[in-house]
Amino acid sequence: MTDKPYDEPTPQESLDPEDWDEFRAQAHRMLESALDRMQSSRQGRVWTELPADIKDALKSPLPRQGLGTDDVISRMETLLPYGAGNTNPRFFGWVHGSGTPSNILAEMAASSMNANVGGRDHGAIYVEKQVISWCRELFEFPETASGIVVSGTSMATIIAIKVARDARLDFASRKDGVCGHGLVGYTSTETHSCVARAFDMVGLGTDALRRIPANDRFEIDMDALRTAITKDRAAGLTPFVVIGTAGTVNVGAIDPLEELADLAKAENLWFHIDGAFGALGVLSERARDRLTGIKRADSLAFDFHKWLHVNYDAGFALVRDETLHRATFTDRPDYLKAKERGLAGGNPWPVEYGPELSRGFRALKVWAQLAEFGTDRLGRMITRNCYQASYLGEQVAMTPGLELLAPVALNICCFRHVVDGLPDAVLNAMNDEIVIQLQEQGIAAPSTTQLHGRTAIRVNITNHRTARKDLDILLSEIVRIAASPEVAAVRKAAEGAPPS
Ligand SMILES: *Cc1c(COP(=O)(O)O)cnc(C)c1O
Repeated sequence: MTDKPYDEPTPQESLDPEDWDEFRAQAHRMLESALDRMQSSRQGRVWTELPADIKDALKSPLPRQGLGTDDVISRMETLLPYGAGNTNPRFFGWVHGSGTPSNILAEMAASSMNANVGGRDHGAIYVEKQVISWCRELFEFPETASGIVVSGTSMATIIAIKVARDARLDFASRKDGVCGHGLVGYTSTETHSCVARAFDMVGLGTDALRRIPANDRFEIDMDALRTAITKDRAAGLTPFVVIGTAGTVNVGAIDPLEELADLAKAENLWFHIDGAFGALGVLSERARDRLTGIKRADSLAFDFHKWLHVNYDAGFALVRDETLHRATFTDRPDYLKAKERGLAGGNPWPVEYGPELSRGFRALKVWAQLAEFGTDRLGRMITRNCYQASYLGEQVAMTPGLELLAPVALNICCFRHVVDGLPDAVLNAMNDEIVIQLQEQGIAAPSTTQLHGRTAIRVNITNHRTARKDLDILLSEIVRIAASPEVAAVRKAAEGAPPS
């Protein structure tokens, strides 16, 4: 071969557009579609299952010849109506944020820089530093606290539990592992499963996490907690961490954080708080007074993608003592060595605060959300959601055939449809069906949970688009569906089934 096709990247042989004018037109079309999608999020069905033909169209062999820009844009546009529905004002399932149109722009800006924020000295690093500093301020952590933007609270929890683990074992555990140390930690039965998963992932095993019973407000029982610690110490084990929750996933309960902070201090335990959504309650007068214990935590995990409505995904791990945080993760092989000047400056690097090396520029959308709207306005959305949950609770209490299953502590209302004389097993099946009907009919999307063996219709409101009328529609539709033939059929089947 005399010609050398690989020497000179022509537009055809790089991945850049051949014709930038044409590409700009295509890009504007995609942006318009994305904005249409966001602008219409108050309209139409909440959730629609992805149609079979689109599912089929997504299945294809590995493309050897590319489809080209137009075709790929068309295929992406086809997908846009089929989200989980969490941008809709009647999405109430699990704990999902509702996102913002503005964050589309931040994602575009971040993507155009294609920044790798594992380290080095460049613009993105300074944005993340600002976000870290704002988080310190928000939760009244000291100047010496460190933090890192991560995918979500699950990852933030793994980071925090690892810091707690390694700090307790003087960081020898990074090399030797944890065998034989008998480390045990404590949390309530209401705690999110990500904490047990973190115990699993850092090699402690889920049995090392003691699940302490909760009281009738679904908060950790402090007496039972003290008893468990005493018992473990007597057995020669090493209690090292206690995990409190600010906003439990089932009902939004807030553990007695000040009491937990006192106990952690007295017992020499690391105090971690899972504040995935509830920690942001510090921005609202409805919750602030119950969250004063957060500033006493050794570490806090929370999400921006829930109650701050940052578009998925973005969470944060905040650690009181930067030196412990860095000592848990730092590892700078030759090719990552720090330099005083140049692109390898800007130390310490984010890679020293978590398990990821290459990481995207999530911090920009967090920065943009906070900078554009400010914490006052974001806080007002949180306050409104709390009032809405209380309103819903009041309406449930006044509606015949509905029963509240937990006090409304924050932004979550758990209730069920009841019929006098029916056993829980039958009611559970009926309430499951009611929720599925709401989802499948595209009316609303609550989820379910189990409270004391009862299936609850669980309405979580972390949604800046929800209005009171959405809650009224939800309740009237629940009453309608409860009397529908579909639910009657489920009742009949459950009554006929042998008790399980
Ligand atoms: C959502 C949630 C988590 C998990 O957070 P991810 O961002 O989904 O990883 C943990 N704890 C609580 C209380 C939550 O609500």
